[in-house]
Amino acid sequence: MGYFFQNGFGHQNSMTLSYTCINCGNNITSNEIEIPSPNMSSSKESDAINFEDVIVCDKCDMEYNWNFTVSPMNVSGSNEDISEDEEVSVEYS
Ligand SMILES: [Zn+2]
Repeated sequence: MGYFFQNGFGHQNSMTLSYTCINCGNNITSNEIEIPSPNMSSSKESDAINFEDVIVCDKCDMEYNWNFTVSPMNVSGSNEDISEDEEVSVEYS
């Protein structure tokens, strides 16, 4: 399972993921993924918000279902298809 984890987050509005397609080797850059606003007055991890998005390779149309978690402290994402060695880079905006 591939994943990323960003600690000491501070809320951002959106993020863009990039990684190599396991099917065709294309460099995938996702569309901007909107990040829901966590409850900033809470410090409990149990108040974290889970959300999902699908990233599609623009070359081979492989679909990747991503699961994300955002809390006031951090944001993380995971995907079942890619390996944990896969480097996923994330840009926030
Ligand atoms: Zn591909």
